Amino acid sequence: MDHFLYRDGILHAENVPLTRIAAQVGTPVYVYSAATLTRHFNLFRQALDWTDHLVCFAVKANSNLAVLKLMGDLGAGMDVVSGGEYLRAKAAGVPGDRIVFSGVGKTVQEMRLAIEGGIRQFNIESEPEMRALSTVASAMGAEVPVAIRVNPDVDAKTHEKIATGKSDNKFGIPISKARQVYAEAAALPGLKVVGVDVHIGSQLTDLDPYRAAYAKVADLTRALRADGHDITRLDLGGGLGIPYRRDNNAPPLPIEYGQVVRDTVGDLGCEIEIEPGRNIVGNAGILLSQVIYLKQGEGRDFLIVDAAMNDLLRPAMYGAHHDIVSVCEPDLGAAMHKVDVVGPICESGDTFQKAVELPPLRADDLIAFRSAGAYGAVMSSEYNSRPLVPEVLVSGDQFAVIRARPSFEEMLARDTIPEWL
Ligand SMILES: *Cc1c(COP(=O)(O)O)cnc(C)c1O
Repeated sequence: MDHFLYRDGILHAENVPLTRIAAQVGTPVYVYSAATLTRHFNLFRQALDWTDHLVCFAVKANSNLAVLKLMGDLGAGMDVVSGGEYLRAKAAGVPGDRIVFSGVGKTVQEMRLAIEGGIRQFNIESEPEMRALSTVASAMGAEVPVAIRVNPDVDAKTHEKIATGKSDNKFGIPISKARQVYAEAAALPGLKVVGVDVHIGSQLTDLDPYRAAYAKVADLTRALRADGHDITRLDLGGGLGIPYRRDNNAPPLPIEYGQVVRDTVGDLGCEIEIEPGRNIVGNAGILLSQVIYLKQGEGRDFLIVDAAMNDLLRPAMYGAHHDIVSVCEPDLGAAMHKVDVVGPICESGDTFQKAVELPPLRADDLIAFRSAGAYGAVMSSEYNSRPLVPEVLVSGDQFAVIRARPSFEEMLARDTIPEWL
């Protein structure tokens, strides 16, 4: 249930026809549904309602301030991976004590920024980073809560570019070395060890890797407690997948995921943090685009649309699939037409999907890429000097532009030509 449904023959976002948004804001444009975001967040909260917990939204999945404000007002914490994301979370009104700082390469400046602004915990990813944080925190007279991200060496069975929990990935410290690293952390000034952190990857469609990883985290927690560490918090990461194809088997539900958490670490009495991103916002967004041309090729037809890989990178980067639908509802039993849906960018990789079955479309018709709310707008660029794609948030009957499309003047004004040129 994602609140993008046909009504009166037109695809709507909640109660707003997408044709109206296209007419007022232009295309391409991302459109998010507030009701869907709220619903998905609440599903995670319910999945953990058997224990003390905090659902930290993974800001990198969608970092628009309006989205963060909506999540923060619902009570979400935030999982950030850069100083910029930290500042976005704060600007959206989320207090520092609900912000977790993850990421493999936190700089000293980013550490300072977060300590000054307030932080729930740093998730440490390496020994050099741990020592740097100790130095920064003690110089500031602070003692910062830390969890150490362990790499459980579990195969998440997902795309290799988004698997993070195998020993050959760059993330975390090997779980076999954890007791030694925790001993050092406990001895370092400026750090207060509070928990264990793990995140094994993204777009997971099977619960078994979670079960395996969390069982290892439970064993480690017992061992660390025996070593004298006061482990009160477990950060179990994010990664639960979403159905990108409507006709495929759906991935496990948050409630089933919550049961795995309960089965594996539920008896430890720890506060549980999770960091879902994609599962909350993925199906809460679509990318709305307009057909520029239908081009008849040799043996295949190309639907050339005004969205491109700079607006939605996932197909080019991961070979990812997004269902593509006509905004104007096809008549039941209407003859479908097979087209390759492509963007205007000068790269063959700028192909969204080949041989898509769509009703016959012409120039100016609208299409929507479904499931585009996560890792969509945040990965957009101005490649080919295409202005950054705007974003719209819908709630019920109303919608607002939450990031405006820059003008060409604004885009050009960011460059400077040196006076000696
Ligand atoms: C990317 C990331 C997440 C979110 O992953 P999703 O697949 O979007 O749920 C959570 N935690 C960390 C540390 C991450 O890097």
